[in-house]
Amino acid sequence: MIEVKNLTKKYGDKLAVNDISFKVEKGEILGFLGPNGAGKSTTMNMLTGYISSTSGQVLIDGVDILEDPKKAKSNIGYLPEIPPLYIDMTVDAYLNFMFDLKKCKQPRKKHLEDICELCKISHVRKRLIKNLSKGYRQRVGLAQALLNKPPVIILDEPTVGLDPNQIIEIRTLIKQLGKRHTVILSSHILPEIQAVCDRIIIINKGQVAADGTADEIAKNISNEHKMTLRIEGPTHTKDDKTKIADALRSIDGITYVRADMEREKGIYDYDVETDGKTDVRRAINKLCAEKGWNILMLQLSDMTLEDIFLKITMSEGITASDSSNAPKLEVKVKDGELIASEKTDDNKEKADAETAEETDGSENNGGEE
Ligand code: ADP
Ligand code: MG
Repeated sequence: MIEVKNLTKKYGDKLAVNDISFKVEKGEILGFLGPNGAGKSTTMNMLTGYISSTSGQVLIDGVDILEDPKKAKSNIGYLPEIPPLYIDMTVDAYLNFMFDLKKCKQPRKKHLEDICELCKISHVRKRLIKNLSKGYRQRVGLAQALLNKPPVIILDEPTVGLDPNQIIEIRTLIKQLGKRHTVILSSHILPEIQAVCDRIIIINKGQVAADGTADEIAKNISNEHKMTLRIEGPTHTKDDKTKIADALRSIDGITYVRADMEREKGIYDYDVETDGKTDVRRAINKLCAEKGWNILMLQLSDMTLEDIFLKITMSEGITASDSSNAPKLEVKVKDGELIASEKTDDNKEKADAETAEETDGSENNGGEE
């Protein structure tokens, strides 16, 4: 349904999207996951023909978005990061206006009723958009995107700034849409993507860092990458701990060792990470045999998608990209969700804008909800 080949966007010297390729099949719900500034919106803007690409190609149902934008766009409904609403219009006037603009062919009255029903905005149709809460505005934006019944729906951070109840409602709606449409949505919030998407593409610094189902991504990346060892030394003291940790560090392929808690009397656990290429288990065995230490446990750690997301976006060696300009992530839990957001001066403005939006949203809440 959608095919993206080597898509690249440069803003001056800045490579916002760097050689992204992927396909989306009919009926799939695909999630773009990545920290702020990763290139999600830029990619979506190119997918929908909002902006042109520097190089690469986008095919929507076989139609090149730059060669025949009209035809390609007729297959897409887009809800950009900032919904294109005319806030001085009533919901009704706006949707009628968009109905005409998009040259919709359906019987107007019934079609608008159905869409409003689906997006749960029937009871606010007579209200001015500027008087609606952020949650309702988002639904009006979604209604607008659905007007011409496009087979492809693209939603950029559809739940940013919404309260938990509104988030659940929008998620439910997206899942429902996924039954009949191909959906791509973006988010910087992992649980959000996990909750609704069949497949995930992790985007980091303009590149695809992982692509697959949550399970596939976890499987591909975890391997024998991380493990916990319990090793018994000769003296059952802290001396053992230091010696064992140092010896483990000297093994080829081991990149990180942290002596953990004393799990049994005088016996410690060690968290070990490898370069991801070397299977170090035999070398560990050999080392312990030579020293006369006993391995009481060796457990490969399954990385959760959360670990992987944080790892990729903090550039700890999984992506090939340069880690020196890795985004600084601020991780916090808000409304029960893990939120990783990038903290750079580049994005300060953006972050401020988001905060302002959130405040805006909560002030307006009360009204119709
Ligand atoms: P995301 O949606 O993942 O937060 P964006 O696609 O908005 O990321 O941005 C990707 C990068 O491109 C960021 O570093 C951003 O600052 C930069 N960028 C986005 N739009 C522009 C623009 N119009 N001019 C210059 N740089 C831009
Ligand atoms: Mg964005």
